[in-house]
Amino acid sequence: MSRKKKNQFSRAAMAAFFIVLAAVFAVLAFSRASHPSKQTMQTVGESLTDEVTQTVTETTQPPIAAPTRADTGKTPEPGEKVIYLTFDDGPTENTSKIMDALDRYGVKGTFFVVHSYDGCEKQIKEIYDRGHQIGLHTYSHRYEIYRSQDTYFADLNKISDLVYNATGYRCKLVRFPGGSSNTISRKYCSGIMSTLTKELTNRGYTYFDWNADSFDASERVASVEKIVNRSVSSIGQLDQIILLMHDALLKTTTVEALPQIIEAYRDAGYRFDVLSENSFVAHHTVNN
Ligand SMILES: [Zn+2]
Repeated sequence: MSRKKKNQFSRAAMAAFFIVLAAVFAVLAFSRASHPSKQTMQTVGESLTDEVTQTVTETTQPPIAAPTRADTGKTPEPGEKVIYLTFDDGPTENTSKIMDALDRYGVKGTFFVVHSYDGCEKQIKEIYDRGHQIGLHTYSHRYEIYRSQDTYFADLNKISDLVYNATGYRCKLVRFPGGSSNTISRKYCSGIMSTLTKELTNRGYTYFDWNADSFDASERVASVEKIVNRSVSSIGQLDQIILLMHDALLKTTTVEALPQIIEAYRDAGYRFDVLSENSFVAHHTVNN
């Protein structure tokens, strides 16, 4: 066979091969479309289920996974004096100093965390590993999240996922930016706090306000004396106290005030505990 003839033959053979291949694919595609195999059906079914599950995860409550810290607190006896030290807006550089102070007295605190900086997961894990309680304070801490139920829960799910990825703990404890009584949310959506307080409960969350305020956020840097005085002013007035403090970068005086606050409550016979689904709950009056 000449080289020219040989080339013509190979081209013809190749063309024939592709025609046969195309025909085989066409027959296969037709038979699949008219009679989907069991395997095809299952694959479609599985991917649909995944999609549905994912949508549910994003729009309603996240899946609960072990381990959970929900049962870490002890339900107070009637009339029992219990103090819950709570720290919002962290983690920051102050977090380990706060934990060191708490550790010196064998006390656990509750940290309502936000996405305070990229990489904050490491510190969130440290809070968890050192046995303190973690609560969700939203991812962004922006009041724009109060625009709608969807924008609020999208933000909450983000911090929930961040905490889950850092600790393996699916947190169900929540504190609203500004508390449930905040009125700034009116600017974004009328009635949103009434909706969210009910919806959080529907989705298995517990939200916590406070019934005592350290006033460490009342000014840029409040004095240690002011923070201590305000923090201990409820001693003898209330049996169960949820004290609001802040784990923000500027709140160095909160760290300094802690030993005096802890000693005052300890000496007054209060038991220290973390917030949990079993603990005392303080709710403000909802104003929007
Ligand atoms: Zn806050």
